[in-house]
Amino acid sequence: MSNKTVIVTGAAKGIGLAIACGFAARGYNIALNYRSDNGTQCAALEACRAAAKDGAEVELFRADVSKADECKAMVEAVIARFGGIWALVNNAGITRDGLLMRMSEEQFDEVIACNLKSVYNMSKAVTPVMTKARAGRIISITSVVGIYGNAGQTNYAASKAAIIGFTKSLAKEIGSRGITVNCIAPGFIETDMTDALGEDAKKALYDRIALRRIGKPEDIANAAAFLASEDASYITAQTLSVDGAISL
Ligand code: NAP
Repeated sequence: MSNKTVIVTGAAKGIGLAIACGFAARGYNIALNYRSDNGTQCAALEACRAAAKDGAEVELFRADVSKADECKAMVEAVIARFGGIWALVNNAGITRDGLLMRMSEEQFDEVIACNLKSVYNMSKAVTPVMTKARAGRIISITSVVGIYGNAGQTNYAASKAAIIGFTKSLAKEIGSRGITVNCIAPGFIETDMTDALGEDAKKALYDRIALRRIGKPEDIANAAAFLASEDASYITAQTLSVDGAISL
């Protein structure tokens, strides 16, 4: 396979890093996006380069994806470095949980900006490139919470549900240009995000998983690799739940 390029947002750790490593191991060049200069991005770069096969190259690109100008500049830099973009994985996301009665406007706005506005910013920046190439894949990481809701997460659930509507609409807009647009809805995956949950909450979630194991970031990475592959070329506007049937 010639080295197609994939941008993965929020890839310094967790699910994003697993997605980046999974693509690198399948011979894709990786534009590894990170936000915080806290050292995790260096370890991520090293891990992703170690996983890379078939001459795939990996580079770091700093941008806060909630900011449109930073997304635009990053996409230009990726094209300058790699010459094109085959796939975008919108993975960056945060939680700022709390019951609505106690949720501040800042908590609500921050989650919408990081989780939803980022998907608009990045999709808007890559769409002209993919349209010109008449090919491409846009994959966004939503959540089972965006489908079923969850007490204490009105902001997060709203952002993730909106990604599903965004995906279906964009798929209809750009399907004729050979671009597919899909979402993945993870269930309970072991990362820093879920590590913050209390033991009781973790146990309650675990008890609802039909497959009787907590998901691994690689479970999501495998689904993303499939959706980006030629095998998935007739799949668009879909939300693929990867959740061990937590959502039933
Ligand atoms: P994580 O371990 O907390 O990692 C999230 C990454 O996103 C961090 O590297 C973070 O960087 C980055 N990020 C956040 N906001 C950003 C921004 N504005 N610009 C650039 N990067 C940004 O979380 P995770 O569990 O891997 O989650 C990844 C995605 O999966 C999220 O969209 C999450 O909502 C979704 N998801 C996770 C689960 C789960 O069980 N873990 C379930 C369903 C869905 P900083 O360090 O700079 O903040």
